[in-house]
Amino acid sequence: MNQTHLRFQSDSAAKAFDLHHREMMVQNISRYEEDVATGKQQFANLELARRRAGVLKHSVIEHLEDHLKTFEQNFSNNGGHVIWSETAADARKSIIEILERHQAKTVVKSKSMISEEIGLYTALEKNGIECVETGMGEFIARLTNDEPYHMVHPLLHRSAKEVANTFHEKFGLSEKASPADMTVFIRNTIRKHLTQADAGITGANFLIADTGSVAISENEGNGILCMSMPRVHIVVTGIEQIIASVFDLELFWPLLATFGTGQTSSAYNSLVNGPRKENERDGPDHMYVVLIDNGRTRLLQAVPQRRTLACIQCGACQSACPVYRNIGGHAYGTTYTGPIGAVITPFLSGRFEEYKHLSFASTLCGKCTEVCPVGIDLHHQLIMNRRLSVKSGYTERAERWAMWAYKVAMKKRSRLDRLSPKRKNYLFKRFLAKGWGDRRDQPMVVKSFARQYVRSGSFKG
Ligand code: SF4
Repeated sequence: MNQTHLRFQSDSAAKAFDLHHREMMVQNISRYEEDVATGKQQFANLELARRRAGVLKHSVIEHLEDHLKTFEQNFSNNGGHVIWSETAADARKSIIEILERHQAKTVVKSKSMISEEIGLYTALEKNGIECVETGMGEFIARLTNDEPYHMVHPLLHRSAKEVANTFHEKFGLSEKASPADMTVFIRNTIRKHLTQADAGITGANFLIADTGSVAISENEGNGILCMSMPRVHIVVTGIEQIIASVFDLELFWPLLATFGTGQTSSAYNSLVNGPRKENERDGPDHMYVVLIDNGRTRLLQAVPQRRTLACIQCGACQSACPVYRNIGGHAYGTTYTGPIGAVITPFLSGRFEEYKHLSFASTLCGKCTEVCPVGIDLHHQLIMNRRLSVKSGYTERAERWAMWAYKVAMKKRSRLDRLSPKRKNYLFKRFLAKGWGDRRDQPMVVKSFARQYVRSGSFKG
């Protein structure tokens, strides 16, 4: 068992038995589920909408290169610059170079999972560039040096009271501050940064090939300020965020809002086409889109796992997953967590063996597949990863031995009965107890029905 796997086991065991954590997750996810049930009512035919979205997104992934080239052409025609980055290090280097070229010393940033993936915040700090998170969740997470807990709800594991305590410690706000008080405080704090920053960095929910636009959805409105107030706007995004046409947004925007937060629509949906033109009042002087691969083409080569590139990052599969609900986001030790993270991380990281255990940490209940708005068959993908792991010889020796013994025994009744229940239980304890974990009762082998039946003289076979 490698170190990553061992850490996952101990961290997840600790969280699963943390009652406060469980209470927070149940409370926050229950609220989310109620909202989603309401949000879904906006669709006259939800299943049709999901099927259409799935077909559109999957077909884009099948022709990814063409759509990306079309996007680059159209975005460049609008005056923007596209930068292709193969790795996280390339992306960080390109972003630092852009900022240095424009002598940008202060940056405002809005929520983006991929900036977590490439370690952008730390890279900016190391290069002496001040970076202020403008998303409420991320702003608070930075105060406690937390990684986001969930794709859409970075503070899913925290209560309002805990956050108020943090604000009390860091800024002297009342311990009884309400979420509204804290929101006002954050707004006032980041406003001056928004008006003075040299550059703004945002993610992208969708890149639109046929118009060369970037679509960004948010609920706080700070993203709009990040992209319109500073003189430089940098969009950091994965290559899989592309969609073919601006008309597809009528489907993707409501699906993302409903499955992400239960809203019918996000509060602010923006479409940005490039830097400010001569006759325009708002917008940056320079705009860049940093297109990041970082293992996505590796995933594209893997059939059928490439279907996961259709993900629109709504986080619904995380909220639905019984494993995620118990162990939370940090135990995974990865940027992308829950079922989608378990499937894609071994490919994105290029270290399949190190992260293969995530695909085994699943009940295979299929709830993730059931809730995915773009029809990704996540629980099948987990099985495919398991199969690949076994085929590649990444399983433990004890497990390989056990499977071999099981196969041999199951082929013949007499072999199955050769060992007494006592010996079988001994072997189980001796070789499989470690993997079974010390929190679960070990299953006890008892005398088989067939043996008892033969003894009773009712069966002669
Ligand atoms: S895999 Fe599906 S449910 Fe999970 S985050 Fe992506 S789009 Fe949402």
